[in-house]
Amino acid sequence: NNTVNILGIDFLNTTINNFINTLQSHLEDRKKAFVVTANPEVVMKARKEEDFMSVIKNADYVTADGIGIIKSAGLLGLPLPERVTGFDLTLRLLSLANEKNYSVYLLGGQDKVIEKAAEAIEAEYPSVTIAGYHHGFFDLNDDKIPSTIEHIKPDIVLVALGAGRQEAWISQHLSRFEHGIFMGVGGTFDVLAG
Ligand code: UDP
Repeated sequence: NNTVNILGIDFLNTTINNFINTLQSHLEDRKKAFVVTANPEVVMKARKEEDFMSVIKNADYVTADGIGIIKSAGLLGLPLPERVTGFDLTLRLLSLANEKNYSVYLLGGQDKVIEKAAEAIEAEYPSVTIAGYHHGFFDLNDDKIPSTIEHIKPDIVLVALGAGRQEAWISQHLSRFEHGIFMGVGGTFDVLAG
C-alpha cells in the first residue's frame, strides 16, 4: 500500500519529488486532485470533528506536513520519508507551472497580501499565467468565487483561508470543478508577499 494510517488518516508514503511527478501526471491527464497537507493540528481537528474528518477523507492525497507526523509514523514502525509541506509544494508547483505554462488561481489572504503575492509570483515565475485571484475574507457559501473558478478552469488552485477552513471550502465545491490541482496553502501567500 502506498499510504500509512496515522490516527485514522491515510498519509501518502512519498517524497516531495515523487509527489510532484504524481501531480504532473494529473495535470497532463487533466484529472483533478484535492491535496491536503496535514499537520498534527489538522489530524487532531479531524479526530474531534466528524465533519472535518469527512473533508479529509474526500482528499485524493494527504501528505505529512510537519516533523510531528514524521516522528509519529516512525514510532508506529511505519516510516514516512520526509515532510511534504504546503509551502514547499506551492514552490514546486509554481516551478512546474513556469516550465509548462500552467495557469494558477490564488484564493485567500488579505486584499493587499494576495495582490502582492500575485505580483511576486509573476516576477519570479514569468511563464505562469495568473488566472485570477481573490482575497480570503468572503462568505464561504458565496457562489461567485467557485463559479469563476469553474469557468476559468485553472490548472492549479491554491487556497489560503486558514487551516481547516481552506480544506472545507475546497471539499464543499470540489464536485463542480472539472480539472485542476486544489490545495490549501495556509500562510504561504503571506510569505510570498514578503
Ligand atoms: N485567511 C483568510 N481568510 C480567513 C482566515 C484566514 O484569507 O477567513 C488567510 C490569512 O490571511 C492567511 C492565511 O489564511 O493568509 C493563513 O491564516 P492563519 O495563519 O491565520 O491560519 P492558520 O493556517 O495558522 O490556521
